[in-house]
Amino acid sequence: MNEIDVTLPCGGTTKYSNLINQEDGTFCQNCSFKHYLNINEIIKIPGNKEKILKKEIEILLERFDLNNLNQLVEKKFDEITFQIDIHSEILIQKINKYRIELQEKVKRKRNEIISQVEKTEINNKISKKLFIEELEKDENLFDKSKTEEKIIQKLTEKEKIENEIKDEINKYKFLQNEKNFKIEAIFGYFGFQKNLKEGNGNYKKIF
Ligand SMILES: [Zn+2]
Repeated sequence: MNEIDVTLPCGGTTKYSNLINQEDGTFCQNCSFKHYLNINEIIKIPGNKEKILKKEIEILLERFDLNNLNQLVEKKFDEITFQIDIHSEILIQKINKYRIELQEKVKRKRNEIISQVEKTEINNKISKKLFIEELEKDENLFDKSKTEEKIIQKLTEKEKIENEIKDEINKYKFLQNEKNFKIEAIFGYFGFQKNLKEGNGNYKKIF
């Protein structure tokens, strides 16, 4: 706009910016006629008015070109899509971290109980072969019975320990917080705000 040549009543010309920046009623600097300049009248002169309107249209068209509406719409919704991706990635990472922690705890407990089982196995090595070998060492029925009683006692003890361990492992479980939870309660939702001035609490869910 500033570069437009404006025609003055005296026939001289000046740039639009020069004219507009002058105080109304100052002397013309472009000629020797010593006349006042009335800015409002000068810009209403048909030749000047047409030039100014034409320039205004050019400026508006340029602005429309830059702010291509389709591009704006695409950009806005691409942004939301991107935000959903990022949020999803963060949640997946959090879930994975927690999953690994939980599974580590399970593994630790499992190993603890396995080493408990191994101890009882070591202490109670009773097999059919050993049992026969021991009985063969005994020479009379009295001794054999005594050995058998001992073996039965050992076997009963072993069974008791095994049952204890079976009971123990049944006490462990993975507890889900809620089986039918809504993912949107954790993830978030796609919202729409009727009035932009209402602040952040007034978004309605888009279905
Ligand atoms: Zn003049």
